[in-house]
Amino acid sequence: MALRRHFHSLHQNRCVLALAMRMTQYLLQQRKYTIDQASTMKPMLIDSKLFRHCFRKEQGRAFVNTGSGTWAIKTNMDSNNNMDRSPSEVLDGNVINGKVIADQIKNEIKDEIDELVKSDPKQRRPHLSVVLVGSDPASVIYVRNKARTAAAAGMTCDILRMPDTVTQEDILGELKHLNSDKTVDGILVQLPLPKGISERFICDAVLPEKDVDGFSVLNIGRFCVDEQAFIPATPLGVLEILKRLRVETQGKNAVVCGRSKNVGLPIVLHLQASRNGDLSAGNATTTICHRHTPPDQLKAYTQKADILITATGIPRLITSDMVKDGAVVIDIGITRIRDSKGKYKLVGDVDFEGVKSKASLITPVPGGVGPVTVAMVLKNTLMAYKKEIDFYQTAAHRMTRSNS
Ligand code: ADP
Repeated sequence: MALRRHFHSLHQNRCVLALAMRMTQYLLQQRKYTIDQASTMKPMLIDSKLFRHCFRKEQGRAFVNTGSGTWAIKTNMDSNNNMDRSPSEVLDGNVINGKVIADQIKNEIKDEIDELVKSDPKQRRPHLSVVLVGSDPASVIYVRNKARTAAAAGMTCDILRMPDTVTQEDILGELKHLNSDKTVDGILVQLPLPKGISERFICDAVLPEKDVDGFSVLNIGRFCVDEQAFIPATPLGVLEILKRLRVETQGKNAVVCGRSKNVGLPIVLHLQASRNGDLSAGNATTTICHRHTPPDQLKAYTQKADILITATGIPRLITSDMVKDGAVVIDIGITRIRDSKGKYKLVGDVDFEGVKSKASLITPVPGGVGPVTVAMVLKNTLMAYKKEIDFYQTAAHRMTRSNS
């Protein structure tokens, strides 16, 4: 059948070829394909979908028991079982194309959902509920994008719109309803909320296992102590970009401009983390700069950065004289300004044209981190749907259970 679609780029190593062929035969037998089809195949890396049959998977390696021993084989998967793709697919020169990365992520999510639903027709699709309070134009656009992207990735999504005259109790009432609805996997409350409503209170009213924005104290706390948690989408998007571009973070100087709780701070926490030898460990030397960092100090820090990440919302804060040759520059800032002809346009924190010629990799604004961020919300929603994180495995929960 369309078997060839499952197989990818050629692999030269003869030893791996032999293993690949054994592996292929095994997989073909599992799927009841004939060996004749396999024998016509060239050396290959095998697609991640076929590796669902393996009993153990690691970054770039899968292990299969063939009956005559355990075979390890090189694969095109990363540690999350996603396709490990070539960075060149998402680059225009040294410019990172966030839309292409977002499409890759969406397609991976869609494939996984389609397969889950196909294997059990009674299975519903993951569902995301978005609460939008008021009519802030930027929020309306963000929410619309999230809903569109969710549909494109094979999820269902609903937007609950509330007027900005709403009270905190009204929002809590809706959240109570969504928390207890078993057909809702992920809940997002679009920020900012109108004046007089406590964002902290509202974020903490979302059940941690549905908090796909990762804004609740429980998720933040778990993340800080290296427990599995939902990580906010923007930091997650930045990490995904670094991962897909195979940017080495270990031992590097990473400077983050901006210390907001949902963006700058979690990025730094992740980049410095050791995660007990986990493959997702950042192990970088990190520095946070913020509004009280004097300009000359800011420049001294950014000039040392191998990885420079900025999330301040200040256009042209980062100019080429502040950037080290060959640095990786990730621009999260997004500001609407008027150009010299009076037309509105979106710009980041980085003087893009100037810095581009010095950086080894750079994200543009728009079209860089933004689209990836939206895709990461869906990745979290899929995790919530699959119940990948057990929030109730603390010592306190265990003691309570054993007492009852
Ligand atoms: P967001 O939550 O989207 O990151 P905020 O407006 O909350 O945006 O945060 C802006 C961040 O930018 C703050 O952490 C602030 O300290 C930081 N910042 C503001 N001015 C500077 C500056 N000159 N240099 C570095 N960081 C700055």
